[in-house]
Amino acid sequence: MNIIYGSELSKELKQEMKVQVDAWKAEGKRVPCLSVILAGDAPASLSYVKGKEKACKEIGIFSQMHHLPADVSQEELERCIRKCSEDPAVDGILVQLPLPKGLKEEQAISCMNPQKDVDGLHPMNVGKFFMNQPSFVPCTPLGIMEILHKMGVNPDGKHAVVIGRSKLVGTPVARLLQNANATVTICHSHTKDLKELTRSADILIAAIGKAKMLDDSYIKEGAYVVDVGVNRTEDGHLVGDCNFDAMVGKAAAITPVPKGVGPMTITMLLKNTLKVYQMREKYE
Ligand code: NAP
Repeated sequence: MNIIYGSELSKELKQEMKVQVDAWKAEGKRVPCLSVILAGDAPASLSYVKGKEKACKEIGIFSQMHHLPADVSQEELERCIRKCSEDPAVDGILVQLPLPKGLKEEQAISCMNPQKDVDGLHPMNVGKFFMNQPSFVPCTPLGIMEILHKMGVNPDGKHAVVIGRSKLVGTPVARLLQNANATVTICHSHTKDLKELTRSADILIAAIGKAKMLDDSYIKEGAYVVDVGVNRTEDGHLVGDCNFDAMVGKAAAITPVPKGVGPMTITMLLKNTLKVYQMREKYE
């Protein structure tokens, strides 16, 4: 089967995490806690936050929601983040992005305790990651690496082409692939001859945000394709950046949208939260 469902892999990993959390509970230990801070009521953000709450519940993590109004001030938002940072009961903190217009994302993230930054976006974590020091890494790139592992492809010596250079997806996944000894090409909106580059890819990561932009003419026979894009069509369906139907017969393995990368992003958030918990239980 060359279709790799992140949703199924996610179930397996969540089951393993649940066993671990249940064991801690049985030992009488504190329950891990994730604090999610949401400003405003953007439907996509609300739906992501609900998904995160549900996933926490599934594995027995306590999730704490701070729902702030869309017109919350920068000061109030930062006060909430600092409060969670200082709260000994809180392990992971996630600020749901994008923030409503007028709020400064980087400034807000920077006032978080970097040791609770389960999204890996605090400048200290970004810096440590790029210096190959232990750090938190953004969840979507981590999920992509798990998917490649499930596909059975070892990036070592392979040519990986990443389309997209965002700080949340493209840039960190390119770094993880490079750390795994792939030869990495990063493409973006100014790239010339995109198809020529993608056709030489053993591994293709599409993180563009353009519905079905890539068809089978963009890949070589036997390529491993991870479609990160989430795009809503006019009739309300979710589709990826890849034309799945066209590619599925040519790729060695491919992820669908939905049920591909998305569930793995949430699963890596849980994994990072348990990582903070373990670090804090060990050192406090
Ligand atoms: P982003 O910040 O908008 O970045 C998009 C990237 O694609 C940019 O680097 C851009 O180049 C590049 N690009 C745009 N048009 C292109 C073209 N015609 N040819 C080549 N490159 C092009 O988006 P993002 O946050 O990285 O997210 C990318 C997609 O992944 C979105 O659909 C998003 O919804 C999805 N996503 C999914 C998950 C998940 O869990 N499944 C998580 C995060 C994001 P420039 O840098 O030159 O502008």
